[in-house]
Amino acid sequence: MKPLLSLTFAAFLATFFQPVAAHAAEPAVAQPTPPEPGAQKAGETEPDLKLREAIARGATIEDIAKLKGPSTKTPQDAIRSLKMGNARFFGGTARRPDMSANERRAQILQQTPFAVVLGCSDSRVPVELVYDQGLGDIFSVRVAGQAVEPGTSGSIEYAVKHLNTRLLVIMGHEGCGAVKAAMLDDAERKAEPENVRYLLDRIVPAVANIPKIRDPKAKMREAVIANVRKQLALAPQNPVVKAAVAKNELAVIGAFYEISSGQVDFLENEDELKVH
Ligand SMILES: [Zn+2]
Repeated sequence: MKPLLSLTFAAFLATFFQPVAAHAAEPAVAQPTPPEPGAQKAGETEPDLKLREAIARGATIEDIAKLKGPSTKTPQDAIRSLKMGNARFFGGTARRPDMSANERRAQILQQTPFAVVLGCSDSRVPVELVYDQGLGDIFSVRVAGQAVEPGTSGSIEYAVKHLNTRLLVIMGHEGCGAVKAAMLDDAERKAEPENVRYLLDRIVPAVANIPKIRDPKAKMREAVIANVRKQLALAPQNPVVKAAVAKNELAVIGAFYEISSGQVDFLENEDELKVH
């Protein structure tokens, strides 16, 4: 696949934006207070700290671009960042991370998301908000019922192969309408438009054999998690994902977002991920 932005075009844009960046660094513009040396914030990695200090010193967009990248986080750092971001979100202390003007401009040179999240299109589950992440942090792939199929797989491959993203999360959520529809009987599903049926057909095998549970809320949770596990089980079949996992450059985990609490439960260990 061709990179989304050609290098030549990126170089042109870099030249174009340079004078603007230099202007923004002039004393007339309010600068953030430089942090105390070594004052690492909770959950901040060493490269994160270096980047923050460089921005506070008025670094150019090229300097910023050099300091950013998914390789500055390990897969475990990436998981920790999402956990801490979600804790801020449901705890009511979300930072809604914004960026300095230079940091935002530096994004024209490259994108360096540390995680690719395959989530549902549901309007109540905006990935960046529930993980309290900012511009350029997450490569977000969203389709009703977060089904792994050629389109979503291609987007995941792009993030892993070309952007060196360190973490793949497949995230389901409480009250998922797509999962609910996949549990309808055949006649009801056949009444849906063709492309909706295509998506539901990717979910049906996941929910066909879930245990009988009387409580409807618990039953839906079980079905959504069964779908997350099923879609996750498809990940190793993807050659790009498989190669990156084998080199310990990518972690693959599941997640369940509870709309009512705002909290994400992470499915990380082998037992949690096993298809029952
Ligand atoms: Zn959904």
